[in-house]
Amino acid sequence: TKKWILAKKFDGKPKNDDFKLVEEELPPVKDGEVLLEALYFSVDPYMRGHDLSGLIGHQMIGSQVAKVSESKHKDYKSGDLVVGYFGWRSHTIYQADKPAGTDDTKIKPYKLPDFHGLSPSLALGVLGMPGNTSYFGFLELCKPKAGETVVVNAAAGAVGMHVGQIAKIKGCRVIGFAGSDDKVEWLKKEIGFDAAYNYKTVDIDKALAESAPNGVDCYFDNVGGEMSSTVIRRMNLFGRVSVCGSISTYNDDVKPKATLVQEKVIGNQLKIEGFMVYRWQDRWQEGIKQNIQWIKEGKLKYQETITNGFENIPQAFIDLLDGKNIGKAIIKA
Ligand code: NDP
Repeated sequence: TKKWILAKKFDGKPKNDDFKLVEEELPPVKDGEVLLEALYFSVDPYMRGHDLSGLIGHQMIGSQVAKVSESKHKDYKSGDLVVGYFGWRSHTIYQADKPAGTDDTKIKPYKLPDFHGLSPSLALGVLGMPGNTSYFGFLELCKPKAGETVVVNAAAGAVGMHVGQIAKIKGCRVIGFAGSDDKVEWLKKEIGFDAAYNYKTVDIDKALAESAPNGVDCYFDNVGGEMSSTVIRRMNLFGRVSVCGSISTYNDDVKPKATLVQEKVIGNQLKIEGFMVYRWQDRWQEGIKQNIQWIKEGKLKYQETITNGFENIPQAFIDLLDGKNIGKAIIKA
């Protein structure tokens, strides 16, 4: 089997030589075990954001969709598809009865539910962790009401494009920020955003004055940093902020000092709440079912940026942090 290990601590932006490809022999499959062959890998921003220093010399973390190629477990047969956090490795021996670890930041592996003919790779995107992040993180924390104005950033990414569409399903007006003119056009023309802007070239405050003249009610924050201070200063009475991510600071060793927004938070009695999607692990399949239904009803579009080849996982991860993806970044083994 092949696996990618973290060769050294990231210094700023991750680079290809921060990772090393190694090969190892797997032992024969024993009773109660299944041999999995990876089909699709996910690269996600958290792989940069978390402190991975304990992983140096160890395999990179991450989820994948894998096919059972040999089974000595009664519940699994060859060809079954499994979604799990097996990391950046091509083959895995999975002990299916092993109790879930104490690490509640991961979802126990599960067999792919019926996707009604949709691609299994979606289990890493719209029908998996990012999809549930959008579904629960937006609806449970922002509690959007019809007619309200919603702002989302990293809007052309996996989570952002999905949050914007749920906002539309709920009858809101949605404004997105993304990092290129092409993404902005795509959000407005294909995905149905009411307004979208390239945060690299516009004055964000002016953009909001133009597209949200009556203020912002819900802010789904994927980016953090200065952009968030600007958006929060434009929020209405009893506005809600779902703090999902802070990708603008993941590569910084020294985190920037926060710009004060407290006055606004107090004056307008805002509610700001962070979350980890695993809070809803008991409702995981509910999110997937709802997202399948919205796709089937034509209300929810998805997009994947697919990189081919196991050897290109690090580059796909670097490209994700550079904003080269539209929708979910996936690697096909
Ligand atoms: P995306 O598909 O959105 O990819 C990341 C995107 O972030 C890039 O495409 C890029 O797009 C944008 N980006 C990169 N650097 C910056 C920057 N400095 N400023 C603004 N935008 C930047 O990834 P996901 O949808 O998987 O994740 C989106 C966010 O959600 C991340 O912050 C992630 O950590 C968070 N998250 C949180 C979870 C939770 O449980 N709390 C679970 C899952 C995700 P662009 O071209 O627009 O710059």
